[in-house]
Amino acid sequence: KPLVFSGVQPTGNLHLGNYLGAIRKFVALQENNDCIYCVVDLHAITAQLVHEDMPGQIRSIAAAFIASGIDPKKHIVFNQSAVPQHAELAWIFNCVARIGWMERMTQFKDKSGGKNAEQMSLGLLAYPSLMAADILVYRGTHVPVGDDQKQHLELARDIAQKFNIDFSDHIRRTGYGVDIKVGDEPVHAYFPMVEPLIGGPAPRVMSLREGTKKMSKSDASDLSRINLMDDADTISKKIRKAKTDPDALPSEVDGLKGRAEADNLVGIYAALSDKTKQDVLGEFGGQQFSVFKPALVDLAVTVLAPISGEMRRLMDDTTHIDGILRDGGERARMRAEVTMKQVREIVGFLQ
Ligand code: ATP
Ligand code: MG
Repeated sequence: KPLVFSGVQPTGNLHLGNYLGAIRKFVALQENNDCIYCVVDLHAITAQLVHEDMPGQIRSIAAAFIASGIDPKKHIVFNQSAVPQHAELAWIFNCVARIGWMERMTQFKDKSGGKNAEQMSLGLLAYPSLMAADILVYRGTHVPVGDDQKQHLELARDIAQKFNIDFSDHIRRTGYGVDIKVGDEPVHAYFPMVEPLIGGPAPRVMSLREGTKKMSKSDASDLSRINLMDDADTISKKIRKAKTDPDALPSEVDGLKGRAEADNLVGIYAALSDKTKQDVLGEFGGQQFSVFKPALVDLAVTVLAPISGEMRRLMDDTTHIDGILRDGGERARMRAEVTMKQVREIVGFLQ
């Protein structure tokens, strides 16, 4: 049975990349799946240990989930640290995974850029191991994420596979495994192979200032991103200032090749309006950015204003959000403990 899991770090202001790459997909997936959506606070302390207002950051991510349309009664919304089983499984995965696997991750290379080993936490290196545990502690199968997380999900598969192989005799003995196929190989597995859900017209929203860098919470320039909480004037200013080239928009998607900034804005428009990039070019092909940008501003404001309005309302009174997180945490803990009891037995820990 499919189980959808995903998480967002409480590391700052949510932006359009988080919304289009992740949260908008979370909302759509609720219809036909059992979903667990997590505010991954344990991840948030990997790059920066001390946060000025961690409780407020956690609540604001949860508020964004709810304001975007996630139903916390039908599904589960919680914060990661409320379920200690994530960290417990991550420890076991730290012993399954190899240091070299972690060092090869591009996110680690990006986030450690310019720093030496004395300046980075061990947690930053082990980040993908905790991420694998987040998903697999629920034996999650489908993970909606932005394109930047693809490599981490491949690593989650590698960890699951190595656990299944290293403990294959134990898994058989306990009877908790199932027969699955990995490619054409039949294996007796405890953990499933997770599938990334990445597609859509904007799988990686790029910075508005640099077409080669992804839009990020941690980018120093606020002009590089559209925050979910930006007001209409700010959105308008940022889109008007967004870097572009001097040419008109092409009529065919092929014409966006080699035009990273144009491609990015067309992808954003398409994702916000649930259209394809070709549909958007059908409408705007041949037009200048002086026409396209104001249309994009209107669209972005129309989609984001109700969400930010609702987020503000939810953040006014924290008891509602705190109640949702507490209830979600309890339900998540019960499910995670079912897995951990079995994992402890497979590994051979007395309990
Ligand atoms: P940080 O800079 O702290 O890592 P972030 O903006 O990358 O913050 P995360 O909390 O790491 O945000 O990621 C949450 C989700 O948003 C993930 O699924 C990630 O793939 C997605 N995401 C982040 N940035 C983008 C982007 N620019 N385009 C599409 N999806 C994105
Ligand atoms: Mg990130």
